[in-house]
Amino acid sequence: MERLGLTWRLMQAYGLTRLPGTTVHAPTPAGEGDIAVFHEPEYLEVLRAADSGAQPPRGSAFGLGAGDNPVFPGVWEAARLVAAGSLLAADLIARGEADRVFHFAGGLHHALRERASGFCYVNDAVLAILRLRERGLRVAYVDIDAHHGDGVQYAFYGDPHVLTISTHERGERLFPGTGFVHELGEGDAAGFSVNLPLEAYTDTQVYLPAFEAVVPPLLARFKPDVIVAQLGIDSHRTDPLTHLALDIQGFAKAFARIVSLAPRLIALGGGGYDIRNVARGWTAAWAVLNGVELPAGLPEAFAEDVRRHDFGELGLWDAPSEGLPESIQRAVSDYVDRQVDAVQRTIFPFHRL
Ligand SMILES: [Zn+2]
Repeated sequence: MERLGLTWRLMQAYGLTRLPGTTVHAPTPAGEGDIAVFHEPEYLEVLRAADSGAQPPRGSAFGLGAGDNPVFPGVWEAARLVAAGSLLAADLIARGEADRVFHFAGGLHHALRERASGFCYVNDAVLAILRLRERGLRVAYVDIDAHHGDGVQYAFYGDPHVLTISTHERGERLFPGTGFVHELGEGDAAGFSVNLPLEAYTDTQVYLPAFEAVVPPLLARFKPDVIVAQLGIDSHRTDPLTHLALDIQGFAKAFARIVSLAPRLIALGGGGYDIRNVARGWTAAWAVLNGVELPAGLPEAFAEDVRRHDFGELGLWDAPSEGLPESIQRAVSDYVDRQVDAVQRTIFPFHRL
């Protein structure tokens, strides 16, 4: 949770929480009924019982306990708040009260219908998409987290009215072990689940052209009313859990491209385990969303956090990286090129591209 507070404080220090034309909303926790639109009631009962902080009976059957999805006091309350933020975002968009919303506590894309998975208890992204669909809106989901957006993909695997696109480190190397190009949707929805696996060490220079070759053509063809974007920043080169190598500039450019393609937009957070990157990346994203240029030096009002969290010389943007040995760089771009090619050969024809 600390990373969310840190992000908020950096946004505040830059003056981004009081921009003209923007408002800040605090949701009230979602009701169980709103969450049961996607999740199994039996799982939700167990998750509710876990709110005390004690492992509930049969908790492990639902993914709760030691490992990725610990039980802690208030776990149900926290899950309800995260869900509420995404549902509020969907409502604001559907009612025409906002055209761009950022809920950076959301984006918990691994949660499955009947169990917690990968630090995710309730799949707020799925709930937001279902709410938008209920209001008759056509939704594309774009997930740039380092991990495959499996929970969202499965939720809409047979639904041609929702296009899901995920770019992520290849499944042989990273949790959850899925997200291959051949996972393309089923029945009428074949071609509507899109996966672009990336090689370890993929950096901004390799990522952005690959993103450009796959994402904009599909979105242009699909013509969504709303894009729901999952902005995990665990793709960063210093993230301790993954092996991708983007910098904050590359992340912000990919997001700017998503913004440029979105008639309306819900941006969600996601992974990010070097919390300095979470604060910098999502602050940069909020600036992009509002067309604000930020000074590169972190503001004086953030100095205490700079000390406490060891930002050192870090500014908002990253220094150039040293780069990889040429042979490795070539192997990385060859792999990514082959995946782009596979997407274009197997997925594009479904869209007459
Ligand atoms: Zn992730």
